[in-house]
Amino acid sequence: MVTFEQAIETVAGYCRNFGLPHTETVALHSALGRVLAEPITADRDFPPFPRATRDGYALRAADLQSLPAKLRVIGQVKAGGTFKGAVNSGEAVEIMTGAPVPPGADAVVMVEYTSPTVNHVEIQRGLKAGDNLVAAASEANAGDVLLASGTRISPAQIALAAAVGRAEVAVYRKARVAVLATGDELVDVSEVPAPHQIRNTNSYSLCAQVTESGGEPVQLPVAPDEERKLTTLIHAGLNGADLLLLSGGVSMGKYDLVEQALSRLGAQFFFTGALIQPGRPVVFGEIRKNSRTIPFFGLPGNPVSVMTTFDLFVRPVVDGLSGAAPRPLRGGRARLNKAFKTKTGLTRFLPAILSGGLYDPVVELVPWQGSGDLVAAAKANCYLVVAPDRELIPEGELVTVVLR
Ligand code: AMP
Ligand code: MG
Repeated sequence: MVTFEQAIETVAGYCRNFGLPHTETVALHSALGRVLAEPITADRDFPPFPRATRDGYALRAADLQSLPAKLRVIGQVKAGGTFKGAVNSGEAVEIMTGAPVPPGADAVVMVEYTSPTVNHVEIQRGLKAGDNLVAAASEANAGDVLLASGTRISPAQIALAAAVGRAEVAVYRKARVAVLATGDELVDVSEVPAPHQIRNTNSYSLCAQVTESGGEPVQLPVAPDEERKLTTLIHAGLNGADLLLLSGGVSMGKYDLVEQALSRLGAQFFFTGALIQPGRPVVFGEIRKNSRTIPFFGLPGNPVSVMTTFDLFVRPVVDGLSGAAPRPLRGGRARLNKAFKTKTGLTRFLPAILSGGLYDPVVELVPWQGSGDLVAAAKANCYLVVAPDRELIPEGELVTVVLR
């Protein structure tokens, strides 16, 4: 049994040894959520010309030492155009946002502070050189690396790739994640369970979490609580997978056979159990098959535990196998709406609802019947994190929450 911190560190340390996946080229439109397999460099200076950031007049700041100042308007330039010529002392060029500031001008005065007359403009406000323009190459120089290989692609990275003319980008192949639920009581979603049976939900939530994490799920048939059949399905899962996720069968029950089956296949375990709630029985290890080493998690069967342990431990491994830096859990702070009590000894990740405004987030626990209570978990939008040394958490305390 390891602490939460030890478990997280074990997973992070393991991820540091991953090699890089194969790469493929995708259209920029399909690159969202993928991981860059090449650096993206600037094909020109950014901005490529001194860019006006306001509508107004391009001029020399030194001409505005005594106000109001009257300057001769020698032309106009709009976004997409150029002004042929230069701005000399006593002159101004009418300019629009996004247009290149003509040579000679060193600032743009906003149109709001000007009154045009025939061929002239009167300016009521002074400014400094550099005001209301972005100098050429001040954001990046041609050839600069703008996005490093290994960067996960969000909309901002897509915009940047578009800015440098990349209609296609090289990305790492998605990690293939085999999902194997175990349990004699399980029937598929499309079946009507007998009174003593339940529907398999873990395969569905796990596949969804794998997809959401940027991996490619491979759902296996449910394994019964019988070692030979379980072993056959573990072999099937390991074939071609980068990671194997099992659910159920890792507790202390007589028919919890997952650890035993994995052990007989020569698995090495890095931890078996973590001092957390929900998810305490979670196991992490690796197994060799066809001269490849494949990491695996034995996740607890309880539907809430399985989702929580994925968020805590599996997502970083999917990241690492996808060529990305593992995403750390990102905590925020929110005010607890109502006191509650727990027992010490476990780090808790309790289903909770974060609400309130931007500046006064409030969090409340979702009442639940424990780690099998999917109904409660589906109402939650965050985890309320409780450190293992805490017993009474008073109303109003700023507690840690992790968004889901
Ligand atoms: P186990 O870890 O196998 O002891 O299972 C713990 C609890 O989770 C039991 O109540 C199981 O019925 C339930 N459970 C296990 N696997 C699944 C699954 N794939 N879908 C829904 N519930 C499950
Ligand atoms: Mg079971």
